[in-house]
Amino acid sequence: MTQTASTCCYCGVGCGVLIASDGTRITGVQGDPAHPANYGRLCTKGMTLPATAASLTNRALYPEMRLTRDSTRQRVDWDSALDTVAARFADIIRRHGPDAVAFYVSGQLLTEDYYLFNLLAKGLIGTNNIDTNSRLCMSSAVTAYKMAFGADGPPTCYEDLELADCVLFAGSNMAYAHPVLFRRLEAAKATRPATRWIVIDPRRTDTAAMADLHLQIQPGTDVALFNGMLHHLIWEGLVDSDYLAAHTEGFAELKKLVRDYTPKMAAELCGIAEADLITAAEWFGRSPASLSLYCMGLNQSAHGTDKNLALINLHLATGQVGKPGAGPFSLTGQPNAMGGREVGGMATMLAAHRDISNDQHRAEVAAHWGVPAERLSPRPGLPAVAMFDALREGKIKAIWIACTNPAHSMPDLGPVREALQHAEFVVLQEAYTNTDTAAFADVLLPAASWGEKNGTVTNSERRISRVRAAIAAPGEARPDWWIAAEAGRRMEALLHPEQPSLFGFDDAARIFDAHSQLTVGRDLDIGGIDYALLERNGPQQWPLPAGMQVGLARRYVDGMFATINGRARLHVTPYKPVAEPTNARYPFHLLTGRLRDQWHGMSRSGRVPQLFAHTPEPGITMHPTDAERRGLRAGELMRVSSKRGGLVLPLAISDSVPSGSVFAAMHWNGQFLNSGGINEASLGKVDGKSFQPELKHAAVRVERAELP
Ligand code: SF4
Repeated sequence: MTQTASTCCYCGVGCGVLIASDGTRITGVQGDPAHPANYGRLCTKGMTLPATAASLTNRALYPEMRLTRDSTRQRVDWDSALDTVAARFADIIRRHGPDAVAFYVSGQLLTEDYYLFNLLAKGLIGTNNIDTNSRLCMSSAVTAYKMAFGADGPPTCYEDLELADCVLFAGSNMAYAHPVLFRRLEAAKATRPATRWIVIDPRRTDTAAMADLHLQIQPGTDVALFNGMLHHLIWEGLVDSDYLAAHTEGFAELKKLVRDYTPKMAAELCGIAEADLITAAEWFGRSPASLSLYCMGLNQSAHGTDKNLALINLHLATGQVGKPGAGPFSLTGQPNAMGGREVGGMATMLAAHRDISNDQHRAEVAAHWGVPAERLSPRPGLPAVAMFDALREGKIKAIWIACTNPAHSMPDLGPVREALQHAEFVVLQEAYTNTDTAAFADVLLPAASWGEKNGTVTNSERRISRVRAAIAAPGEARPDWWIAAEAGRRMEALLHPEQPSLFGFDDAARIFDAHSQLTVGRDLDIGGIDYALLERNGPQQWPLPAGMQVGLARRYVDGMFATINGRARLHVTPYKPVAEPTNARYPFHLLTGRLRDQWHGMSRSGRVPQLFAHTPEPGITMHPTDAERRGLRAGELMRVSSKRGGLVLPLAISDSVPSGSVFAAMHWNGQFLNSGGINEASLGKVDGKSFQPELKHAAVRVERAELP
């Protein structure tokens, strides 16, 4: 029996795990008592990880390929699959240019995988058409951090959970989505009962049920709430004038805007009591340390960046940044959404928080990669929703999808399926064959999964942890970085035979070194981190420049921000309503979210019977008053429809949703339903700054399903 220290592959908490194995099978897992994210704790998903690895049912074990477009895929060898991928991509690039191909990758990938995909797209092919499913979950947070602080990344750390006097949860059901962090908060509140919890959420979630104050706002009214709170703070003298004068700019313009957002007016917009809004502002403003924790409820919105900025305004106005227990803390959903941001694995950014439009930044990256500067395109690539639109319209001909399931997770699924159906060439790199996207793949490249590969991930508090293989991958599955490198080598032989290979990496450690060197001198400098340091000192937060042994827990402690003049920027954030208001035909607000024990499209968590105990079946949840008015009973089959599409779900009745809204979990998909899931109905409208779609809200109607 051996024990291997690694990291849980589910969520952005990034819990350390100790994997027990007999050399061929994973036999157990326990929380790593030494890991600073979880100190030995695990949630239900983490504890059942061995069961996900035990079964080979629906595992992708061998490369597969269609020999003609309409045939079924057949098993082929790796050389045939990789040669075909390289040849088809090179042919399309020669005929239509580099922007005719695209990569759609995932926050499930390790940093080393992400680095190589970025090198392949931006360094070898010369397109910025590489985006990630993280676009769907945290791009509004990235954009807001950059606009307010001058650089991406939270200023906070997990230790702040234990030090905060006021915790404001905004659009985060942390009890379900980040359970181990929630346990840490619960433990802290037990020892410091005076700590105030404010939860902002249209639903009475399990997180809201624990709150001292639950602000059950109307969907999408977060900005009005934050502006109203700021109005109260300003006019009650609760802002930190010294901090504002020394470290920020833009307060005068913001003050003019929020003059109109009286607590009465803002509370009316939000549908809450004025006294509750004032209480929230008082607690936030008067507490020695106020921490906000936010997630999809702010980010997945057509105004997601403004929601983030309005919340950050509250922190800057009260000086609640850069000190223990305080700050705006965006929680990442996926295990390595943060690592993807570090390597620039998005269509709108370059490696190490560099900008695509900046000539010097492109030249720096090109020099590091050893490619001509002009190879790196100054044109931003297409972010997720626009990428699939371009695929449908034939502007993008070929797409390579790595470890994600867009036929389930993208908004407005009908056009996404159409895009995949009509694409010239679809490559899917996956560990599982039972995803909604797998049916569209011309080539399937089998990927190693959790417990089978090496690399690193970065969690929500900027902490880089090792991921280690405990057993060999089954069949012919290979690590994601290996697949990208092998295809890259073949593609460069066709496109740029004159250049020395960009893909001469033979293990994950060397890829990490290449990545870390590209960060030197940047705000996220990790020039001091290599695998040896992580082995010696354990998981580390960035920045950690060369010469340091331990990373920085908090950023901006001296009030110096990463902007050109060192000042943080307050932004004017007028309230805008949801992108698709309800009306007589579509009278319900559709709210979406997560279940406690499932993950994403359930390709991994759906393999564990135990994880269905908490919520055994899909459903659409409606308030008792709305159900009674329509004469509906729990368990009846309902058709939930928006202007775009719909699906049939059994009715659940609960006052956890407010009257006028319904709720559906995002996990259920084609494995369980005769449809792709709730995103049949969701809305593809994106935020104009972050390009993140409004997955959290759409207008729908709910009626008894007429079954054949
Ligand atoms: Fe894994 Fe997240 Fe649970 Fe930790 S909280 S065990 S990282 S799913």
